[in-house]
Amino acid sequence: MSDDTTLHNGVKMPWLGLGVYKAEEGNEVERAVKTAIEAGYRSIDTASFYFNESGVGNAVKDVEVPREELFITTKVWNDDQGYEETLAAFEESRKKLDLDYIDLYLIHWPVAGKFKDTWRALEKLYKDGLVKAIGVSNFQIHHLKDLMETAEIKPMVNQVEFHPLLTQKELLNYCKQENIQLEAWRPLTRGELFDDPTVVELSKKYGKSPAQVMLRWNLEHGVVTIPKSVTEKRIVENADIFDFELEQADVEKLDQLNQNKRLGPDPDNFDF
Ligand code: NDP
Repeated sequence: MSDDTTLHNGVKMPWLGLGVYKAEEGNEVERAVKTAIEAGYRSIDTASFYFNESGVGNAVKDVEVPREELFITTKVWNDDQGYEETLAAFEESRKKLDLDYIDLYLIHWPVAGKFKDTWRALEKLYKDGLVKAIGVSNFQIHHLKDLMETAEIKPMVNQVEFHPLLTQKELLNYCKQENIQLEAWRPLTRGELFDDPTVVELSKKYGKSPAQVMLRWNLEHGVVTIPKSVTEKRIVENADIFDFELEQADVEKLDQLNQNKRLGPDPDNFDF
C-alpha cells in the first residue's frame, strides 16, 4: 500500500504511519494498531509520554506480519533526557514494547542544556544495533545546527508539527538540503481545516475526503505523515492516498493557507 522513503543511512521508512497519541493504553490502542496493520500500515508512532507502548507491543505480537516488515518509532521524554537517563528510558520503552530493537528512536523535544547528551545516548544505541535509525522531534533549524556541531551522526528524521496552517517552509528546505527526513505530526489539524473552503474544493475536485487531501499534501512535499485515529473507517480512509496526486497549483493553494499557526507547543517557548 505504501511506498518507503530511504533515510540517509539507507534504512527504509514508510511514507505513512499510524500515530497513537491519545489512544488509550490497553484495548483501544491494541485494536487501532491491529486494525491499521491489517489495513496495510507498516509504521506505528508512539512515545513513552503516550503511556501506551505496552499496548502497541501486544498488537505487534498479535498480527501475522513479520517484525522485520514493521517500523516502530518511540521517543525519549523530556524528564528522561541526559546520557545515562536516556539509556535507561530506552530500555524501559523497549521492555514495554517487548521488542529486540526499535526502528526509530527520537528526542521528543529539544530540552536546552540536555539534548546533546541525550543525542550521545542515541548514537550509542544506534552503534549497538538496538535502533535502526535515530532522530529528533520539534527541532528548529537552530537546534539542528547546534546539535550537528558536536554530533557524530546526523539525525535521520525530524518530526515536527506540519500542516497547511504551519507550512514550515524554511525548516523543510533546510532538512531537504541536509538529507534529514521531515515527518509531520498533527497532519490533520485534528479536523480544524476539514471545513476550510480550499480543502473542501479540492476534496470535491479529486473525489477524496478532506483528510485524504491534507495527507496527500504532506506526501507532495516529501514529508512522512502519521495521522492518528482509533476509528476503523478513518484508519482505512487515511491510508487510501496512494492512488492520486495533487496538481502543483493545488499544492500551492494549500500552501497559501499558511498562518505560521501552531496548534501545539512552540519548541522555543516550551515549559520543559
Ligand atoms: P491528527 O492531526 O492526526 O488528528 C487526529 C484526530 O483526527 C483524532 O481526533 C481522530 O479521531 C481524527 N481523525 C483521524 N482521521 C480522521 C478522518 N479521516 N476524518 C475525520 N477525523 C479524523 O493529530 P495528532 O495530534 O494525533 O497527530 C498525529 C500523531 O503525531 C500523533 O498521534 C502522534 O503519534 C504524533 N505527534 C507527535 C508530537 C510530537 O511532539 N512529536 C506531538 C503531537 C502528535 P479518532 O481517533 O477518534 O478517529
